[in-house]
Amino acid sequence: MTKVRTQTGSFAYAKYQLRRSILENALETDYTTEDYEASLEFFGGCAFCGAKQPPRKDHLVPVIQCGDFIPRNVVPACQKCDDSKGQKEYHEWMRNSSSRRSLKTRGFTDEQVGERIELIEKWQSGYRPMTEAELFGEDYARYQEILQKMEQLCEEAKRMTSRVRSRNRKPGVDEAFVSQSSKNTESSADRIRRFILSHYVVPARNRGEKTVTVRAGDVHGQMSLHGQHANVCQAMRGDKFLNLANVKLKSFRGSLAGANAYFTYQL
Ligand SMILES: [Zn+2]
Repeated sequence: MTKVRTQTGSFAYAKYQLRRSILENALETDYTTEDYEASLEFFGGCAFCGAKQPPRKDHLVPVIQCGDFIPRNVVPACQKCDDSKGQKEYHEWMRNSSSRRSLKTRGFTDEQVGERIELIEKWQSGYRPMTEAELFGEDYARYQEILQKMEQLCEEAKRMTSRVRSRNRKPGVDEAFVSQSSKNTESSADRIRRFILSHYVVPARNRGEKTVTVRAGDVHGQMSLHGQHANVCQAMRGDKFLNLANVKLKSFRGSLAGANAYFTYQL
């Protein structure tokens, strides 16, 4: 069992989350199921490859780059396209990507790609996100001040927690597990989700990795659970976890409700 430090990662994630939350709340949100149906009809499936029944809604311009959650900036996407594209600019990804699940690799010709791009541009109809300065206007300085404060707050919290840890450290005790046992109001599924977030997703993000693979049996063991492999697997593939961690489930292999279930997430 590998012990994973989470502190630095958690603060990095906290900073990212705050910025994302501020943007998400400041940006325009106006999207309905009717809008999704309309986009599905317009594209006849995945906006990028045309695959039928695409399960995802993809921001053409991501939230962190001030992309609004409005029909013109959201398209239906299949899992393959969404995972392969990630945060990349869609023209660039569609035309040039040669990753495993890119359009080129899947055999799309330049002409076909050109047609899909034309369709997407038509859907966007000139949509351009605002810059952060435009979005916040007279509050832009205040926005930067808040991010700066968060930076200082995290530094302060990091120093304080590291003092606490070095004072209280007992060999062989998993700090994360101790801190969890005090939070017994959480459901067991919540604890599993939070454990995977803090022990796998955040550290991987912090290392700058694009994906992370988690084995259900490891989570089960590290959390000292008994006979709960099915629950762990369920928590690992559920939307609630994917939303909480802001990840996408990229691939899965192994036994679906057992220890040897491997979930790979796109970060
Ligand atoms: Zn697709």
